[in-house]
Amino acid sequence: MWGSAAGRGLRRPRGTARLCSCEAGAASKLAKSERRAAKKKAAEKYRCHPMAEPPPPSAFPPNGGRDFFHFELLHQSKKSGARVGRIHTPHGVVDTPGFVGVATNGAFKALDHRLGDDAGLQLMFCNTYHMLLQPGPEVVEKAGGLHKFINRERPIITDSGGFQVFSMAEGSVHDELNMKKKSNAKGGVAPPTSVLKISEEGAAFRSYVDGRRVLLTPESSVRAQKALGADIIIPLDELPPYHISAQRLEESVARTHRWEARSLFEHLADVRQQAMYCVLHGGVDEAQRLKSVEYLTALPFDGFAIGGSLGKDRAELMQLLKFLMPLLPTGPAAKPNHLLGIADVESIEEAVPFGVDTFDSCFPLRIGRHGTLLTPRGRLYVKRGKYREDYGPIDPGCDCPVCRNHSLAYIHHLFRAKEPMAWTLCTLHNLHYMCDMMARIRQQIIAGEI
Ligand SMILES: [Zn+2]
Repeated sequence: MWGSAAGRGLRRPRGTARLCSCEAGAASKLAKSERRAAKKKAAEKYRCHPMAEPPPPSAFPPNGGRDFFHFELLHQSKKSGARVGRIHTPHGVVDTPGFVGVATNGAFKALDHRLGDDAGLQLMFCNTYHMLLQPGPEVVEKAGGLHKFINRERPIITDSGGFQVFSMAEGSVHDELNMKKKSNAKGGVAPPTSVLKISEEGAAFRSYVDGRRVLLTPESSVRAQKALGADIIIPLDELPPYHISAQRLEESVARTHRWEARSLFEHLADVRQQAMYCVLHGGVDEAQRLKSVEYLTALPFDGFAIGGSLGKDRAELMQLLKFLMPLLPTGPAAKPNHLLGIADVESIEEAVPFGVDTFDSCFPLRIGRHGTLLTPRGRLYVKRGKYREDYGPIDPGCDCPVCRNHSLAYIHHLFRAKEPMAWTLCTLHNLHYMCDMMARIRQQIIAGEI
């Protein structure tokens, strides 16, 4: 599921609900003309050349630290770029390198997030796109923010919502590559989309929940993330497709920089106890990546998310990290970095030596729900007939509650009987596996093995 939209918690829009049910008559006409006037005004306000420069770093306050958020570098490997650190947030510490569990709607699917705490999970990733549509940021804000709403004491990160919107508009790299194959065979298949318009102002799309029109702008995304109240927030960026011309990529990086600058202004006007990471762009083009690093590291962001198109496969991602990671500030100027949407075991093992701090993906938990279990010997597919009478645990070396209490035969039976408990148990084991693996990796870096 390389770089798939589903890997970042994308749910496809359902049905074709109407945009809105306007009242008939004069009121409706008036509302329409007002909307047209507002659109025209916005179009004029945001009209700019595709290559317009973003505001210079001098337009922002100095690139200083925060008293509620900082990165503590504990150990730098002499053998590679790998490092061990601690991200201090208002809701506690995140040990790095660390796995970040994706709780799209503020919940791990089929698993109480408190069980994630027991597994050692420190940072949880919630998707603004989904929370924006259901239950809505105002509902979460009234509850006192995400931490209170879902009753979590540990750190939370939210994204801008842009990834899901652009995946709907363009498809993910995975979709794109598959689409290309299909289009070769069958003469073209258009990706499903409910995106209405992407402009300098932002991205307008149709809600999959109730069909209403939603305009996601750099400012509205930050406001939504203020209402959600996560410890770490992410600015809106434009996610172009993988197959893109050099000129289109250049324009996209320029727009992303303008959007990130707008996001940062909005954030700095009301920081609260939130840190904002920039999103480094440029696809697999080294000149564009360098340009993105140079501009964004000069702005007062609190960390770096590695985003944009991350390549068509793992080899291309590693090539990108090899080039990109040494460009980021080190030593006392070091800030935490986060690889967006990639957290399979193999990618983590290959990316850690380049100095990546945190990884998020719903992939390890999702494969659990489908019966694939992570073990030191590789993946185990528990639905296979050979486990029908296997009374041993998933992994004799695993100390998780599932391995301590249940056999493969029992879990196999639960899947066959379609008991939802099967999802819970497999999700829990895989979450433990990821957290244990990260703890082991941290030890190996400190021991000089990585
Ligand atoms: Zn286990």
